[in-house]
Amino acid sequence: MIGVAVLGATGSIGRSTLDVLARHADRFRAVALTANRDVDGLYAQCQAFAPAYAVMADLASARALEQRLRAAALPTRVLAGEAGLCAVCELPEVAQVMAAIVGAAGLLPTLAAARAGKRVLLANKEALVMAGPLFLDAVRAGGGEVLPIDSEHNAVFQCLPAGAAGPVAGAGVRRILLTASGGPFRTAAPGSLEDVTPEQACAHPNWSMGRKISVDSATMMNKGLEVIEAHWLFGAAPDRIEVVIHPQSVVHSLVEYVDGSVLAQLGNPDMRTPIAHALAWPGRLESGVDSLNLAHVARLDFEAPDSNRFPCLALAFAALRRGGAAPAVLNAANEVAVEAFLARRLRFTAIPRVIETVLEQVTAAQPQDLESLLALDASARRHAEVVVGALG
Ligand code: NAD
Ligand code: MG
Repeated sequence: MIGVAVLGATGSIGRSTLDVLARHADRFRAVALTANRDVDGLYAQCQAFAPAYAVMADLASARALEQRLRAAALPTRVLAGEAGLCAVCELPEVAQVMAAIVGAAGLLPTLAAARAGKRVLLANKEALVMAGPLFLDAVRAGGGEVLPIDSEHNAVFQCLPAGAAGPVAGAGVRRILLTASGGPFRTAAPGSLEDVTPEQACAHPNWSMGRKISVDSATMMNKGLEVIEAHWLFGAAPDRIEVVIHPQSVVHSLVEYVDGSVLAQLGNPDMRTPIAHALAWPGRLESGVDSLNLAHVARLDFEAPDSNRFPCLALAFAALRRGGAAPAVLNAANEVAVEAFLARRLRFTAIPRVIETVLEQVTAAQPQDLESLLALDASARRHAEVVVGALG
């Protein structure tokens, strides 16, 4: 039996993960499930999966969950907070950790899983964007591995030679091509984006996802974060990573080799495919995803991204090239701006302006340890709140 901890179990990725695990109860066991404040959601999952541990982000939610579990005579132990999250990542009976908390809140447990030598199934791209070198050091020190859940990176991983480690250039790779759907505003007139609502921004044409990543997809910051994610995961220099718009979301990404060969991974847009791939790697697992019906898909379109319409993509490339603290600052400013947009305190079109301003204000060397990284993140967030206040 392979023990799995699912961080962010009540979210979109968490629920897809449990769907795959439930199909293979003979091989995988959910040892720990975690959520932010959704007591009802985690309680229902505890009923269905009987994990040994459940973790809620705060004490009040943990107590509420505990009461419900005791009343139903369910044996799951309840922990709270970051310490609880890290503790379940380190359990000896946990072999794999699905890191699917959204945003910087997932950093510490994801690092704990890496340090403990677990197989980290990485959905939480913000953790890697913030802390690329620290995270890779933790994976090396722990002796475990990281497998990408983000569909693009999972596709790239599948198109690279088995066991490829280190810079991709050494594997004969010329370019990594990340596909992007272009989100809900790909063809909207640029002037029409001023009054976009959170509901419109979260209505993704192909994927059903959490609200933060949905807004990131609408601004294309999601692809920007993914460019940085690809840099760290695959040791790819920024000029070897390209983004191409592909509205059907069927080709999940491509790898071009120096001989001109281009390998792609295709499939229906359903996160259960990368999740099942990472759980079973190097084997394969039935995921519940339908066969790809190419006659039904009929055509695959590609186009270059429009940098005027999507300034966030250029901001992310610039932050990656600048290096140092820039990717962590970019991520922090983006999280604050997206939250403000979702709370209707900031216009959609002001999101890139907040990020650009904070990137100009907060400059620092690459944080060498976790403490300085967290201080940098907090400082960038404070600056971002001020800019949001001024623009909102
Ligand atoms: P979501 O909002 O649906 O779920 C987030 C989960 O994290 C929930 O279980 C929530 O309870 C938990 N959480 C939120 N804040 C927390 C906090 N402060 N402390 C503890 N737990 C907290 O998000 P999602 O769409 O599932 O995305 C999760 C991660 O996966 C994100 O980093 C996202 O970029 C990445 N990802 C998602 C998809 C997708 O299709 N949804 C695809 C690729 C990558
Ligand atoms: Mg993705």
